[in-house]
Formats: sequence, structure tokens, C-alpha cells
Amino acid sequence: MSRSRVLLVTGGSRGIGAAIARKAAHAGFDVAVNYVEDAAAAEAVASDVRAAGRRAIIVKGDVSDEDAVAAMFRIVDGELGRLTDLVNNAGTTGRSSRLDEASPAVIRRCIDINVTGAILAAREAVLRMAPRHGGDGGVIVNISSVASRLGSGGDYVWYAASKGAIDTLTIGLAKELAADGIRVNAVSPGLIDTEIHEKSSHDAARVERYRPLIPMGRIGRAEEVADAVLFLLSNAASYVTGANLTVGGGR
Ligand code: NAP
Repeated sequence: MSRSRVLLVTGGSRGIGAAIARKAAHAGFDVAVNYVEDAAAAEAVASDVRAAGRRAIIVKGDVSDEDAVAAMFRIVDGELGRLTDLVNNAGTTGRSSRLDEASPAVIRRCIDINVTGAILAAREAVLRMAPRHGGDGGVIVNISSVASRLGSGGDYVWYAASKGAIDTLTIGLAKELAADGIRVNAVSPGLIDTEIHEKSSHDAARVERYRPLIPMGRIGRAEEVADAVLFLLSNAASYVTGANLTVGGGR
């Protein structure tokens, strides 16, 4: 792909998604920043993208809502042009607990956002990237988690299961889309310093609780995850598809 790159980051307003959007701007991508609630945070990220000399828009939309996802991609089409890159980053854990203490609504919401949302967004992306739909290839990076292989017992097994689905989606889509010139990879962060632990898990103390289990002895930064994502988006990863890169300090 020699034309300019147009990247949509779901959940790009805060945390890991915001770091990806900011670094992508410096790497030359125009960026659509998706969010649901925090418009001010999304606008701050977009403003930083513009300051880096790239185009940016913010697109409100719940990734678990198929109509909202379709509308979001149409806005990107109209304002930034044909999408070349997608980072499926939007995610939630739900309140941390044993499974028998979790509410069905929390479990369903997590699966709806993390799994259905990522699949719906990937579908819309393929409709823009695949040559059979007039596209010229592209790159999809799915944000998974080390939880998919650790299982998160006693913490949020439904979240871990949702990330297992993301790993499988990555393997299957990479094979399905390889001949279309679309690479699909995953990044699996370990424990990263974002608001997800406090706002989504309602368990800010878990960060300190799990720190001793991290071989490198520290929590990761969102920017360290973003660097791995930017590698997979870049042409330096031109022969990498179906891969899953752990960014977990050895965990
Ligand atoms: P975060 O700080 O809580 O940020 C979540 C982002 O997702 C926000 O921008 C939020 O936007 C957006 N979002 C939430 N629900 C959404 C929805 N239904 N539709 C669209 N956007 C939505 O989380 P994070 O820690 O950066 O996590 C990002 C990704 O990394 C997630 O997939 C998470 O599972 C994964 N991950 C995180 C860690 C970690 O330790 N932090 C570890 C492994 C994997 P609004 O607030 O504006 O709604």
C-alpha cells in the first residue's frame, strides 16, 4: 500500500487505544478515534493527532451495536476516505469476581463488547479493505490479553474467555484474508497501567496484587503496548499474519 493510511481505533479515547492513536499519528496515519462516553478524552486524542500533522476525527459508537458500528465506518468513509487499518481495542472486563458471584448482565456486556464488537468491526473493515469490495488490502490488529491463556480464575473468567475468542478470530481471519492482502494479528498485553482496573474491574488493588507475578517486576505502560501494535501495522511486519505478540513483562 503506497497511499496514505486511514486507521480506526475502537476505544481510542483512553488507555491503550489513546496511546495507539497518538503513536499512529507520528507514524503517518490519519486516525479515527472511536469512543462511547468520554467525548472530551476522545477530542484530546484527536487534537494530538492533528498536532502531529495528520487528519483526525472522533466517532461516537458502541461497538456492540451493529447499527452504530456500520454508521461509524460510514462516517470514516465520508470524512477520512477508504479505511486501510483497524485496531480492535475497545474492551471491558466487568466487575472482578468469581463466576458464581457475577451477574449475567455483566458477563453478557463483556462478551458483547469484546467479542461481538470486534467481529462486527472486523467485518466492516474487510468490506473496505478486500479487493473483492474495491479495497487494496490492509491490516487488522486485535487487542487480546494474557488472560486468554492464564484464564483469570477468581478474577473474571468470562473476560479471559472473551479474549480466547479474540485469539481464535485472529488465527481464522488471518487465513481467510491472507490472499486479499489483509494481515491480521493480535497483541496480548499483560498488566498495563490504565483506568480499566478501577473503572471496569472495580478493583484498582488488583494491580498491586498481581505485580509480584510479573517477572519484570513492574506494570506495563500503554505506550509499550502501542509500540507493538505500531510494529504490526507497519510494513516492517509485511510477512507477519496470524501472530499474537505478548507484551507482558514476561508473564
Ligand atoms: P480503558 O482504559 O478502560 O479504555 C477503554 C476504552 O474503550 C475507552 O476509550 C472507552 O471509551 C472504550 N470503550 C469502552 N466500551 C466501549 C464500547 N462499547 N464501544 C466503543 N468503545 C468502548 O481500557 P484499556 O486498559 O486501555 O484496554 C484497552 C484494551 O486492552 C481492551 O481490549 C482490554 O481488554 C485490553 N487489555 C488491557 C489490559 C490492561 O491491563 N489495561 C491488559 C490486557 C488487555 P469511553 O470511555 O469513551 O466509552
